[in-house]
Amino acid sequence: DKEGEKTLRSPICCIMGHVDTGKTKLLDCIRRTNVQEGEAGGITQQIGATYIPAENIRERTKELKADALLNVPGLLVIDTPGHESFKNLRSRGSGLCDIGILVVDIMHGLEPQTIESLNLLRMRNTEFIVALNKVDRLYGWKACRNAPIGKAMKQQSKGVKLEFDHRLTQIIAQFKEQGLNTELYSKNKERGETYSIVPTSAISGEGIPEMILLLVQWAQKTMIEKLTYSNEIQCTVLEVKVIEGLGATIDVVLVNGVLHEGDEIVVCGFQGPIHTTIRSLLTPHPMKELRVKGAYIHHKEIKAAQGIKITAQNLEHAVAGTALYVVGPGDDVKELKESVMDDMRNVMSRVDKSGEGVFVQASTLGSLEALLEFLKTPAVSIPVNGIGIGPVHKKDILKAGTMKKKEYKTILAFDVKVTPEAQEHADNNGVTIFIAHIIYHLFDQFKAYIDKLKE
Ligand code: GDP
Ligand code: MG
Repeated sequence: DKEGEKTLRSPICCIMGHVDTGKTKLLDCIRRTNVQEGEAGGITQQIGATYIPAENIRERTKELKADALLNVPGLLVIDTPGHESFKNLRSRGSGLCDIGILVVDIMHGLEPQTIESLNLLRMRNTEFIVALNKVDRLYGWKACRNAPIGKAMKQQSKGVKLEFDHRLTQIIAQFKEQGLNTELYSKNKERGETYSIVPTSAISGEGIPEMILLLVQWAQKTMIEKLTYSNEIQCTVLEVKVIEGLGATIDVVLVNGVLHEGDEIVVCGFQGPIHTTIRSLLTPHPMKELRVKGAYIHHKEIKAAQGIKITAQNLEHAVAGTALYVVGPGDDVKELKESVMDDMRNVMSRVDKSGEGVFVQASTLGSLEALLEFLKTPAVSIPVNGIGIGPVHKKDILKAGTMKKKEYKTILAFDVKVTPEAQEHADNNGVTIFIAHIIYHLFDQFKAYIDKLKE
């Protein structure tokens, strides 16, 4: 690119809504059609995200005759919406997503998590559209595979149209109760004030063209500034995962800038800031299952916006939901370490100062916060002496082993794995590990243990 010339990056879109409304299926629908057609320059499955390149958007929306208006290189849709760390990101007001899709099941209307998602989007001032999904379930729906919804609607019987209008009116009223003005996208003349509803089917693909086009058009129309590509690194850790053969890795979304192999990075870590060097930058192999070995493509460098897996040393205690910084020339590493730890201070303050208490290990910052909150409630009231995120390692056992009271020589492991080495060490040193995927179960186990000790 010429210097000074403005280029846009891909808008980042999050997909949210109540469970079973069709979030995953909508993404499947966007991807599968493409795989079936075997197009070049197709959609790629990324780490925690799906990338839809501009050519594909053009192809998908050509019947809508809007291709001249496309300026972004593509659209990156984040598909880990139900994930704890994502929830955590959302509530932290991170600048990760530019735009959202709020999915509503046309047969069910607004449901509890629809409202929760709606409030999160509003809290963060994130623009969004409503996908009114499962229109194919309207009685008598005539499938028009992957057609624009405008065209598909014209094919429907009077009965289907009536049922659709009835349900749409109800849902608009439900949104109104939540203080939100919504309107069918084709009738919406006050975009911005009024949110657009696009009817879709993730099964037969009707409405997907309009859904994609509306997202891109809206992003291009209202957030040029935000979407102007910047060299300044903006990167968020979505997940920390241990991968066989790779060790602890972090899955990140790179919003701006370029990451290189060998870049020096600073990440928020559970036991303090992590200062390390990028060993490899990976994305999944297009046609391979994520679990297959050697399924990754290595990159020398990657430009935003992308979903990437990073391997480096010392990442096992990295904290999902926090920022990643690259140490640039003239950057003060100490300062970067300070700012990277900002998110953690609140959680750290929950650790008991007395030096006595159990050890708590959870999968993400979000779930750890929930667990600490629970342990603090008067009915439970278990002191916490140490905390961690990710798998339980030997060093965690060593720390728990230093507790004098038997009841505190324990680790409450929430939704995490225990390494065999750690388990062996625990067995040999009188440390008890409680493992559960539900917070209350952990408490029940721990309580039963205490009762037994007292006997
Ligand atoms: P999520 O929990 O929001 O990710 O929902 P899923 O994508 O897993 O879908 C939940 C269920 O609804 C699955 O059985 C899907 O096959 C079904 N489903 C999703 N979208 C549609 C749709 O547009 N039409 C119909 N008939 N079923 C759908
Ligand atoms: Mg899902």
